Amino acid sequence: MAAEIVYYNPELLTTPTHIVCPKCHSPTNTNVEVKNTNKTHFFAFLMCLVGCCLCAWLPYTINDCRAVRHYCQKCNRYVGSYKNNYRFC
Ligand SMILES: [Zn+2]
Repeated sequence: MAAEIVYYNPELLTTPTHIVCPKCHSPTNTNVEVKNTNKTHFFAFLMCLVGCCLCAWLPYTINDCRAVRHYCQKCNRYVGSYKNNYRFC
């Protein structure tokens, strides 16, 4: 399995963003793919520990707790990830 390089682009948001694709150099919008990460599960677990079991689903709804990957709409290649500051976690 090839190691996947994740690089963060401060221009990228949690929603489709207009960029110049670094791969095919076309101005385009991105497609986003939002994934739960180990950190998402960790924060959910943390919520349970502090007695907020009812809030444990929260990290799954907050994009700042999740990996947001952007793909070029033209060439479909991975172009970067949203810079996650964990401001809500
Ligand atoms: Zn492209």
